[in-house]
Amino acid sequence: MFLADYHVHSCCSFDADNKARMSEMAKAELKRGITEVCFTDHCDFGVPETLQIGPNNFQLPRSQAHQFIDAMERAPDGIEVRLGLELGQPHHDVPRAKRIYAMPEYDFILGSLHNLRGEKDFYYLKYESLEQCYELYERYLDELIELASVPCFDVMAHIGYCLRYMHKQGFEASITMERFGDRVDALLRALIENGRGMELNCADLAPGGRAEPLLTTFPSVEILRRYRELGGDIVTVGSDAHNVKAAGSGVAEGFELLRENGFRYVATYRRHKAEFKRLA
Ligand SMILES: [Zn+2]
Ligand SMILES: [Zn+2]
Repeated sequence: MFLADYHVHSCCSFDADNKARMSEMAKAELKRGITEVCFTDHCDFGVPETLQIGPNNFQLPRSQAHQFIDAMERAPDGIEVRLGLELGQPHHDVPRAKRIYAMPEYDFILGSLHNLRGEKDFYYLKYESLEQCYELYERYLDELIELASVPCFDVMAHIGYCLRYMHKQGFEASITMERFGDRVDALLRALIENGRGMELNCADLAPGGRAEPLLTTFPSVEILRRYRELGGDIVTVGSDAHNVKAAGSGVAEGFELLRENGFRYVATYRRHKAEFKRLA
């Protein structure tokens, strides 16, 4: 069975383990049966610890170039490695994001939102009430809708990202069709109309990857189903691993969820062009 992991961090990401070299991550992915991996290290606008590309110089960061060449030379036979990027808040600086998207080195770019305009990463926010969580979700979804129409990414990453941090602080708030149906539909329609895909982020899906996984996907299966109902058919699956132990964790389970929910193909990317692999 073909398995591809399209959301993987290496030690080029500030929040990844320093042993997570691309070559080591590729080895660990292959052990889980994954035969294609795309490295998507962080480049977040407004977060200086991440890879910084632009506004004047649009060259591939040296650390990424070195690691990727090393991975191509040292990755074991049987796994294909591709180079991508997780671009955070690209809609906060559209010209810069478009220039990054036009760089020839990247096969694939994930569009992510880790912090709202003028706010810190959801990871660092202090959640004090359910109302506040829902208010943040509204703003989050509004910014995702805005991001969906900017031509600077291939696939939208981890819709519902903030949930993990809200839950950790004791608030069981989540994005449901019942509460946020209009906004979710507007977002999914914008992705579909603009030819962008949606990621099924499996970082929290299976035990064995992240410590204390929430046993859910991002987005939820409810939203995944809605995407399909609306005609969405471009989906990638990602482990979002930041260390060797988590490399590829949840990917096989994510593929199974796609199958169970009526998807027949998973997407992989070359030069920003989706290629569809049949889900056997
Ligand atoms: Zn992310
Ligand atoms: Zn990530």
